[in-house]
Amino acid sequence: MRKFLVLLLVLPFLTFSCEQQETNVVAADKKERPEYAMVIHGGAGTILKANMSEEKDAEYRKALSDALEIGENILKNGGSSIDAVQKTINFMENSPLFNAGKGAVFTNAGINEMDASIMYGKDQNAGAIGGVTNIKNPINAARAVMEKSEHVMLSGKGAEEFAKVQGLEIVDPSYFRTENRLKALERAKAKEMELGLEIQDLNGDYKYGTVGAVALDKDGNLCAGTSTGGMTNKRYNRIGDAPIIGAGTFADNASCGVSSTGHGEFFIRYTVARDIAAMMEYKGVSLEEAGNYIINEKLVEKGGSGGVVALDKDGNISMPFNSEGMYRGYVKPNENVVKIYKNE
Ligand code: ASP
Repeated sequence: MRKFLVLLLVLPFLTFSCEQQETNVVAADKKERPEYAMVIHGGAGTILKANMSEEKDAEYRKALSDALEIGENILKNGGSSIDAVQKTINFMENSPLFNAGKGAVFTNAGINEMDASIMYGKDQNAGAIGGVTNIKNPINAARAVMEKSEHVMLSGKGAEEFAKVQGLEIVDPSYFRTENRLKALERAKAKEMELGLEIQDLNGDYKYGTVGAVALDKDGNLCAGTSTGGMTNKRYNRIGDAPIIGAGTFADNASCGVSSTGHGEFFIRYTVARDIAAMMEYKGVSLEEAGNYIINEKLVEKGGSGGVVALDKDGNISMPFNSEGMYRGYVKPNENVVKIYKNE
């Protein structure tokens, strides 16, 4: 009986101290993690300052910061990381500057075939589409696969039919054609003739213009998405890494979100996006270290060029690439960065 009385007396204090501890943990978390964050890329490759006109440079920087602003407005107002990723990518898909949506590169057969994927870190749900030719915004179709189907990946005609049933905007394939990309196909074909072998050229002059975004919302949920036209002069309904979960896109609230750009075959074979998250998950390695190792050591050793943008659950950002440049940028509250070349 006495013991019971003592317990009754100390119980309120015990509960109080537990509550105190919990509040402290939450406070520490909040302090560490920015309210929101987003990182984007518009492709990696042979992007040299010496080859870029001032106007083009400014055009790309403006497009990247406009894209970031779209995502930031959503996140700032409490919107979800899924919405931020989708709307930001929509903007880049609609811009002819990038190899996604309008401005997608051409296949050997002279058409535009697009791939895209999206993954949500909270439940690791994912959606992807490969080889579509008439969906205005491929990332919207990837999101619809994630949210409105029991599948993860749909391709070709089936994916197009699904998008139509879902009420997504369908356009005439000619919508995606741009002069610059057509010229890149011609250059790739000329080079093929010269070399006498089949090449899947990297946009004619070794630029990968895929777009991607990773966002962390106020609820602490990560989302990653990637959208692309693939590689110039691709044949045989080739599908790259962009729609492959674990290669071009990955997100897990336990570690990080990643979106890739580069020579897709290498990103698929070396499961680039997943490897970065796995290093964090299983080995406790930091995002910076994991990204650098996979992109600047492992991939270099294997001969794969490109890069990733990545964002971890605590809001840390990493943008490693092993090519000359990568269109990239990020936002956090009171921070806004856009870069193209190695250091600027
Ligand atoms: N990764 C893309 C692909 O191989 C190309 C790119 O990043 O631009 O399809």
